[in-house]
Amino acid sequence: MKILIFPFIFAAVLGGQITFAQESSQPVPKQPSALTGTDSPEALREHVPVLPAVRAKYWNIDPAVGYGMKDFGNGLYALSDNGWQSAFLVTDAGVIVFDAPASYGKHIPEAVAKVTNKPIKMLVYSHIHKDHIGGSVAFKSIPGLQIIALDTVSDFLKEMNDPNRLIPTVTFKTSKTIMLGNKTVELTRHNYHSNEGDLFIYVPEAKFLMAVDSVTSGYVPFQDFDLSTNFHEYLKMFDEILAYKFDNFIGGHLTDTGTRKDVELTKEYTNDVYQTVKRIHNGLNERAFDAEIAKTIGPDNEFLIFKALLDKVTRDSVAELEPRWINRLAGVDVWLPSHVRAALIYVRWDDKE
Ligand SMILES: [Zn+2]
Repeated sequence: MKILIFPFIFAAVLGGQITFAQESSQPVPKQPSALTGTDSPEALREHVPVLPAVRAKYWNIDPAVGYGMKDFGNGLYALSDNGWQSAFLVTDAGVIVFDAPASYGKHIPEAVAKVTNKPIKMLVYSHIHKDHIGGSVAFKSIPGLQIIALDTVSDFLKEMNDPNRLIPTVTFKTSKTIMLGNKTVELTRHNYHSNEGDLFIYVPEAKFLMAVDSVTSGYVPFQDFDLSTNFHEYLKMFDEILAYKFDNFIGGHLTDTGTRKDVELTKEYTNDVYQTVKRIHNGLNERAFDAEIAKTIGPDNEFLIFKALLDKVTRDSVAELEPRWINRLAGVDVWLPSHVRAALIYVRWDDKE
């Protein structure tokens, strides 16, 4: 089937020269790529179930309560609804809350009240994303509450003016140490995930580290290496986490909290994806590949030729990596192609040979 499109003129840079072409009609693709997703029953059934070892660590959460709580000791409590994770720290002088997820943020004040009668004094934002701080509106009427965040996070939230994400009241550029009661919290800026910066939240007395949207214990990272806007920084993040002395770790998502082992395993996975993509991409004879594709479609559709090349590197990388990881982390068959794609963008445009 063909549909008529009004004649138009477009310019394209081909072989370093600007050329002009005129088109009068366009064939409609048989199956638009946006519609060939994974939501059909057949496609869904092709995926492997969550690894049993990971399923066994799901928190048992009462739906009527909406969250679960884990006591890490030294006043540190972790919260989760099996989708998102956050934490809070009880001190002699009040409570410091770390993130307020949109999903269960409204329950955090009651969770705190279950373990202490001290008031909530501070709320720390890990980064701007609404799924992690969009429940902060529930803290609106807490008297004298300090909301602490990076200056860039605050600038973004002021501009956004989202009623669900309260505006920070205390900001800093790179690092800040909070002292409240008898406890210390170290906040340090990193840039592995969101455009406006991410915080490492460290409580030395509890040997606790929170780095949201970095490592999801038991699983591969979420799509595109956790939506990282900076894969270069993401690659460094693992050693930056491991430089801390910690026993308990919160990455902000899904089922269980983590340990150093989880960080080490995700580091190994990420480096394997990166090195494999780099080897396959750099080993491809592009000139020969392009010539082969041009035999079918001609040489002028450079976007399509280039897409075919990126798709081949992606396909070959996934085929090699999937058997190595499918039984070691959950979600490999779900997100590996997106991880390969994120690494490929880095390898082709940022990396050295
Ligand atoms: Zn995020």
